[in-house]
Amino acid sequence: MTSRTPPDPTSSLIPSPASSSASVPSSFEDRYSRQILFPGIGERGQKALAHARVAIIGVGATGATSASLLARAGVGHITLIDRDFVEPSNLQRQILFDEQDAADSLPKAEAARRKLLAVNSSITVIAHIADLVPANIHALLGSAHLLLDATDNFETRYLLNDFAVQRGIPWIYAAAVGAYAATMTILPRLPSREAPSSPEHASGPPEDAPAPIPEVGILSEAEESPYLSLATERSDASPYHPTACLACIFPKPPTGPVETCDTAGILSTAVNLAASLQVTEALKILTGQPHLLRRSLVSFDLWQPTASTRLDHAEISAATPRPGCEVCDLRHFTHLAGTSRPHITLCGRDSVQIHEHHRPIDLAAMQRQLANIPDLSDVRSNSLLLRFRRGPFTLTIFADGRALIHGTTDVTVARSLYARFLGT
Ligand SMILES: [Zn+2]
Repeated sequence: MTSRTPPDPTSSLIPSPASSSASVPSSFEDRYSRQILFPGIGERGQKALAHARVAIIGVGATGATSASLLARAGVGHITLIDRDFVEPSNLQRQILFDEQDAADSLPKAEAARRKLLAVNSSITVIAHIADLVPANIHALLGSAHLLLDATDNFETRYLLNDFAVQRGIPWIYAAAVGAYAATMTILPRLPSREAPSSPEHASGPPEDAPAPIPEVGILSEAEESPYLSLATERSDASPYHPTACLACIFPKPPTGPVETCDTAGILSTAVNLAASLQVTEALKILTGQPHLLRRSLVSFDLWQPTASTRLDHAEISAATPRPGCEVCDLRHFTHLAGTSRPHITLCGRDSVQIHEHHRPIDLAAMQRQLANIPDLSDVRSNSLLLRFRRGPFTLTIFADGRALIHGTTDVTVARSLYARFLGT
């Protein structure tokens, strides 16, 4: 900073003459000028970001922070997927949401979409209020160049890993709990253009067959992007070398209790660090510089000093795929082939989610119907969800028939309430 020429204090007051040599609109140049100055991005990198399509799975703490960073950085197309709504306890760390969003119980994906467009109206932001499951993952994520994990559960991460490896789409794991932050960048093998890809084992239904390659959505709008060359160069000189996948490092999802933000709490600073690491890796991928990626599972404890008072920092190498890995070597996509999950207990929320059937609900009609039931209270709806209380339980119903039952972690109790109001 000190080596730079001090800014002219009047420069922001005097309109600059239009530059005839500008190859991009001056507003674009101005908006991203500090990022373009950074040698790792430059003008070419900035244009690549404008063509990039990134999907963020989960728009809680990490997802909201990563989405904000990507939107401000100029990533042109951002898809947000989240099944939850904003609550007051989110506001401590989920930086895209405010008190009004919590008062309105806005779905997080939609609340985040509105905030991101207020920050950067030149980009496209798509919000999906949905639970990511095998049945919808191809439709929701199929056109993305890059997937960012910001989920709160390993079930979804293993599903994401299966999908990303099958389709050859990079993804970045991120986790934050307590004062701990971790990320890992996964570069799967790219689908082969010339030779048939390695044989798929018939562990799933036909729709889980390997994706056609490589002109699937992944490249369709990236004509000018260095990402194009990243994704198509396969000579020995290519800087693209696959890393380990999630299942190379952890062959199975953890069993038994896992620390969550509910049980261990969470510092917003840990969230911000995880998101910063994740988005920096994303910028390297989207500007076609995979040789700069961290090839490890990196983690930090921001609270406990080591003897030298530095951040406690650990790394597990994830530099190369593990021979024999069920997912990226043997291509057994069991999570992708799995039937959709009927119910999930949410992270630290004293809630059960039920999504047994795709069952479109007319929320306004249902509200009128519930108004006649005496033991219900606080029956409220907006265009996206319907909520009411019954005794100690709060039910939130989404338009696709999904329900969150708050006030219990007992699946039987939740199922019974679901069946009573939405049928079995
Ligand atoms: Zn693997």
